[in-house]
Amino acid sequence: MRMCDLKNKIGNEMEQVQTLICNNAVMVFSKSYCKFCNKVKEIFRTENIDFHSIELDLMDTEGKIIQDALAELTKQTTVPNVFLNGKHIGGCDATEKLFRDGTLVERALGTYQKRDFDLVVIGGGSGGLAAAKEAASLGRKVAVCDFVTPSPRGTKWGLGGTCVNVGCIPKKLMHKSALLGCDMKDATHFGWEMAEQAKHNWEKMAQEVKMHIMSLNFGYRSELMLKKVQYYNAYATFLDKHKLKLVDRNQKVTEITADNILIAVGGRPNYPDIPGAREYGITSDDLFYLPHCPGKTLVVGASYVALECAGFLAGFGLDVTVMVRSILLRGFDQQMANMIGAHMESHGVKFLKNTVPVSVTEKSAGSPGELTVTYRMSDGEVGEQTFNTVMFATGRSPCTANIGLDEIGVELNARNGKIVVDKYERSNVKNIFAIGDVRDSTPELTPVAIQAGRLLAKRLYGKCDEPMDYKMVPTTVFTPLEYGCVGYSEEDLTESFDAGDVEVYHTHFQPLEYTLPKRDQDKSYGKLICLKSAGEKVVGFHVLGPNAGEITQGFALALKLGAKKSDFDDLVGIHPTCAEVFSTMFITKASGISVEKSSC
Ligand code: FAD
Ligand code: NDP
Repeated sequence: MRMCDLKNKIGNEMEQVQTLICNNAVMVFSKSYCKFCNKVKEIFRTENIDFHSIELDLMDTEGKIIQDALAELTKQTTVPNVFLNGKHIGGCDATEKLFRDGTLVERALGTYQKRDFDLVVIGGGSGGLAAAKEAASLGRKVAVCDFVTPSPRGTKWGLGGTCVNVGCIPKKLMHKSALLGCDMKDATHFGWEMAEQAKHNWEKMAQEVKMHIMSLNFGYRSELMLKKVQYYNAYATFLDKHKLKLVDRNQKVTEITADNILIAVGGRPNYPDIPGAREYGITSDDLFYLPHCPGKTLVVGASYVALECAGFLAGFGLDVTVMVRSILLRGFDQQMANMIGAHMESHGVKFLKNTVPVSVTEKSAGSPGELTVTYRMSDGEVGEQTFNTVMFATGRSPCTANIGLDEIGVELNARNGKIVVDKYERSNVKNIFAIGDVRDSTPELTPVAIQAGRLLAKRLYGKCDEPMDYKMVPTTVFTPLEYGCVGYSEEDLTESFDAGDVEVYHTHFQPLEYTLPKRDQDKSYGKLICLKSAGEKVVGFHVLGPNAGEITQGFALALKLGAKKSDFDDLVGIHPTCAEVFSTMFITKASGISVEKSSC
């Protein structure tokens, strides 16, 4: 009930209070010394909302009578006591809640209409699910729309997004499968007598991986149900900034509205614009679901996806070629990238460097068939080779093209199609947010999307002000010899700092597990990049070796907390491990002393 409707039900002494509430769209009963009152007024100023306030402590006895009248009207004895368009809102917490969830302006203007949901998330991947679950835990009414458009080859999958279905999870399981092959070869050196030579069975592995993924898909659906998040298995497009059109696989159309909408639609793989790419090529979206072994494979591209997939395919004993347009792992420390390449080469992966594909044609059909790839090298020379499978790992594009963002004016980065947001993940349209792979200037990594999603929900519906910290994000490339890093590369540093200010400590190391099989001598390596002017603060950590992901995760915390080289020196190592080399790393690159062949 509007407070002004109560007018006749209460005594005359209330008249002044009633008049103030009725005559002012935004009315704040305040006390001049109260920090919560000042906070509320500051919020209205920030939002450019006109408000009227009276300071009860500056009104002698009248102030006390008004406060008593307010207590009778609202059962709230404290200030600030806030009314929007005649409706009692509450105090500072209640006003802040509306400010955070984005509905304060509409409520102040009297244009607010109750919508179906507090939050709708478009995209049920790593980021979207994290945000939806967090918002629901904070008591909000939430929906998730997720729809997988099949790949050009017709591959499709369930709820969970890229990581679960066509990214981290199948990739890591296949990486593990390849590592097991290596371990089996090593096993004889550790006394195991192998009855017969082990053979890799693609179909069996792919089936096991698929079953695991399906169990994860089921788990995500159950979690949403448990948290009372409404799930729509439908493709979402914007009708206006608060309204979405959802189309399911049977073309059934539903319309829903929400106060806030989070875009977490991720990206999909690119195909090069050459004849035959889409008809005959596959991408990582298909590889993990191939029902047959890919056979002799060409991987086009030279970054994360290309090198990881080439690595595990070669680990299964397949003939694998990587076609590199320019450099390996653009954006990464190039010394480390080239060491990865050298290690892969020593394990039989072929590299066609400075080369781009020109066309793909079918030589013979089959499972797999044979494909002829024509390619051009940077010197203009043209070559041709036959492969069973051609996989494009030539980057990914955000799914922003067909969701109606033009119509509602959401700003995209024209160079990459990603959504431009502020540090609170808010786009230029106030109630629309973006996180994960679709957010501009974001590392495309699952934990980044998850963290950003959780924090966003907490900022909107909880009591958190913290923006996501996109600095010092650790990552690992799961090549046969894993590469983990956090912080700056050597190239980054020479761009940002004086070369004389940078000190690099480094060493090769021989993992104990490689000694008996005499495997990969001098291939494992670590380095710490330090800034002399900051007391040798460690600003870059790089490790190439077994379990680099596990090692990097721990040390990333040290870098985030600002550890110096002396802290690493003070650390007592765990013996015998690979990670211990970082507590005994004393040779600088500048000294020129050889770091090869140091061993346990
Ligand atoms: P996604 O997980 O891509 O989810 C987006 C969802 O939205 C999808 O389900 C999509 O179908 C859906 N969608 C799109 N448009 C619409 C629409 N209009 N309506 C409804 N639904 C829609 N990261 C790591 O940290 N570690 C790794 O080891 C790793 N390995 C990877 C390996 C590969 C091969 C690939 C491709 C990626 C890998 N990544 C890895 C990256 C990681 O998978 C992504 O960063 C992460 O999944 C991004 O999450 P997201 O929530 O932004 O989007
Ligand atoms: P990237 O954008 O990182 O790399 C694309 C690669 O394809 C580059 O080597 C690029 O070469 C090459 N390329 C692009 N276009 C062409 C073309 N027309 N012809 C030939 N080569 C071409 O994409 P990825 O797909 O590898 O990875 C996408 C993201 O997914 C990564 O940034 C990462 O964040 C995430 N990811 C994370 C993983 C992890 O955490 N372990 C694993 C896999 C993916 P050039 O350098 O010359 O441009």
